[in-house]
Amino acid sequence: MKPYLLDLHPDQYPLSGYRRNQLLEWVFKRGVGSFGEMDNLPKALRDDLERDYRLSAFSKVETFPSSDGSTKYLYTLLDGRQMEAVLMPYADRTTICVSTMVGCPAGCSFCATGKLGFGRNLSAGEVIEQILYAARDQGIAPGAIRNLVFMGMGEPLLNYDNTLTAARIMLHEDGLGMSQRRVTLSTVGLPKQIVKLAGEDVTVKLAISLHAPDEETRKTIIPTAHAHTIHGILEAAREYQRRSKRRVTFEYAMLSGVNDALWQAELLADLLKGLISHVNLIPMNAWAGADFTSSSESRIQAFYDILEARGIPVSVRRSRGRDAGAACGQLALKRPDGRSSEISAA
Ligand code: SF4
Repeated sequence: MKPYLLDLHPDQYPLSGYRRNQLLEWVFKRGVGSFGEMDNLPKALRDDLERDYRLSAFSKVETFPSSDGSTKYLYTLLDGRQMEAVLMPYADRTTICVSTMVGCPAGCSFCATGKLGFGRNLSAGEVIEQILYAARDQGIAPGAIRNLVFMGMGEPLLNYDNTLTAARIMLHEDGLGMSQRRVTLSTVGLPKQIVKLAGEDVTVKLAISLHAPDEETRKTIIPTAHAHTIHGILEAAREYQRRSKRRVTFEYAMLSGVNDALWQAELLADLLKGLISHVNLIPMNAWAGADFTSSSESRIQAFYDILEARGIPVSVRRSRGRDAGAACGQLALKRPDGRSSEISAA
């Protein structure tokens, strides 16, 4: 198969001089989907590019618009596997949530992606194309999508190299030109990889899916908690903060009767003392086959009040795209059999 152009870092792009700049501009600034559209390149050059590279890794794309303006994209890859992204326009910004894997090996029990198991890692280009396609579909320049979260299918730090390459392409001025402050990587909490990331030239924002402040509860919902203690994760978070100078976000899915006791809010506040952090409380969205239900509004409020009173910055993340099955870290997957299941992200 021909090399996939989007897998390349801008520094590796073919051509030289102004022709290379033109090619980069067509790909990342104008976001065209074919070499044929690059009409300021000579026809012979476009034919050469067509012969030597492919510009897409998708064989089919389905879109699921939501009444709140969000759109879920279900991408079918050349090997027939599927993954997805969600584009969420807000009044002052447009955010995209991208996947880094087909499925996920982490197996969190409240997450439908985890229940699907692991398909495969996505390449860097397969991550980048999620953004380029969504921009094209919306009739906007890729640069208009200024916020990105790695919160779709998969654990980004288990696809470390490809995720990092994708981040570098996003941040490069000849690539998507995004700001590091507007890119958030969400992880289930893998201390070794977090510390490694802290040493990279890429200092994106870090979000850690903590979901419980005590080992016993965390182990019941997150299998990787058996290998990585909360203490180890927080040490890694401190190291990331020390080197990146960035606030670390902790994500907390509110699961009724599991992790929403008031003593757990107190314990969470104890744990985060001294760390510049922010807690995102996420009401759980029900999906077919889920073993959990969301905490009640009053319990979420009580949990919130404790954290706030203890001086921990906290917010409740409200759902977007619920009717498209694409709300706040939960994405819907339309199965080939026509049924709909939902996928919760890291
Ligand atoms: S919550 Fe995230 S890390 Fe856990 S199984 Fe789902 S996608 Fe994977």
